Amino acid sequence: MDFQPNAKSEELKARLVEFDQDVVRPAEPIYRAQREESGDPHFPPSIMEELKTEARKRDLWNMFLPEAGLSNLDYAPLCEVMGTSPLLGEATNCSAPDTGNMEILTQFGTDLQKEQWLRPLLDGEIRSCFAMTEPWVASSDATNISSRIERDGNDYVINGHKWFTSGALDPRCKVAVFMGVTDPNTDTYHRQSMILVPMDAPGVSVRRGLPVFGHSEGGGHGETLWENVRVPKENILGEEGAGFAIAQARLGPGRIHHCMRAIGMAERALDLMCIRAQMRVAFKKTLADQGVVQERIAESRMQIEQARLLTLKAAWMMDNVGKKNAQTEIAAIKVIAARVATDVIDRAIQLFGGAGVTDDWPLASMYAHARTLHLVDGPDEVHMRQIARRELGKYAEFRPAGF
Ligand SMILES: Cc1cc2nc3c(=O)[nH]c(=O)nc-3n(C[C@H](O)[C@H](O)[C@H](O)COP(=O)(O)OP(=O)(O)OC[C@H]3O[C@@H](n4cnc5c(N)ncnc54)[C@H](O)[C@@H]3O)c2cc1C
Repeated sequence: MDFQPNAKSEELKARLVEFDQDVVRPAEPIYRAQREESGDPHFPPSIMEELKTEARKRDLWNMFLPEAGLSNLDYAPLCEVMGTSPLLGEATNCSAPDTGNMEILTQFGTDLQKEQWLRPLLDGEIRSCFAMTEPWVASSDATNISSRIERDGNDYVINGHKWFTSGALDPRCKVAVFMGVTDPNTDTYHRQSMILVPMDAPGVSVRRGLPVFGHSEGGGHGETLWENVRVPKENILGEEGAGFAIAQARLGPGRIHHCMRAIGMAERALDLMCIRAQMRVAFKKTLADQGVVQERIAESRMQIEQARLLTLKAAWMMDNVGKKNAQTEIAAIKVIAARVATDVIDRAIQLFGGAGVTDDWPLASMYAHARTLHLVDGPDEVHMRQIARRELGKYAEFRPAGF
């Protein structure tokens, strides 16, 4: 296996880092101030449009698309850079949930759907959300999803209650990819479909933003109601009953993206930890001179390297032997990247003392985000269950008869 990214990836990475350092990070305080001035935690600050214009000028735009000429392995290091900087992904039109939605629109969308929704998404004119999880059923088991998408003449009528619809509170969010049951009587894996729903369609309402550890900002996580929402039959994505297949297709590359972003976050936390350890003096020694601090720094470096190598291996396998053969790795990185990010950020918070839990440093918000990574995209347990099943499956012959 060769984890060396191609020359284009290296060149893009260098320019991405430069853009981040010179333009994006200096804009972070302006972004925060503009949002605070608006009095609305979901207000999209205008500085973001300036960053997007600059990213396009620098040809740092939509780099996740196959046309960019990057394999999963080549794109992975760029995601890591994006993980170090909270505004960089959106500034380059490479942020979730839009990237996943753009990927499935590219793969499964009709010409009309592409013109109506994909083009404005690619141009960064609108944003989107993905509505699968429901409050009243255990949604880590997607077969439980109970919202309905029912055919009525030339329309589909949608009824459902969703939550954690990330991005739904952003006024620029114009379309949802909605998952629901079209045929409850067919086999489990063909009951669900995905359909495109304009967010301003009558019957769509965002009841509230769900705070995460008491914070609610950006596009938020919406609790959304879908009451007799009528959309033309042409809005179905792919074909009726293809919901599971599309959900699977959405997972692979997206997993690499968010794991590498988590590793990027962990790198930033380690970076801050090392600087602080060198600067801060307690009991007549710098913190860096304390054995326990050194051990935590070493532990963090080792964990990050392990997680990165495993994620690159998953990316390499997806590129070279296909997603099906990379199932264990794709499941494993979901758990490992979240674990490493929370561990490293937690150590950094401890080293910062009280400052670590304030908003003066990015650690507290990074920690909150990293903690959610154990749940988003399916909880850790579900992925570990898959890994264990594949491992145990190799030894099935040892099971007693009848078990
Ligand atoms: C910040 C955030 C953003 C999100 N964004 C989106 C989004 O944009 N769109 C969307 O549709 N969803 C989104 N989600 C929802 C997320 O995907 C779900 O929360 C997740 O899939 C788990 O579903 P659930 O909350 O219904 O938990 P449940 O299914 O009720 O599971 C609860 C717990 O049960 C345990 N468990 C479940 N299965 C097993 C098992 N097999 N073995 C052992 N233990 C198990 C796990 O500990 C799990 O955490 C988001 C969630 C968060 C926190």
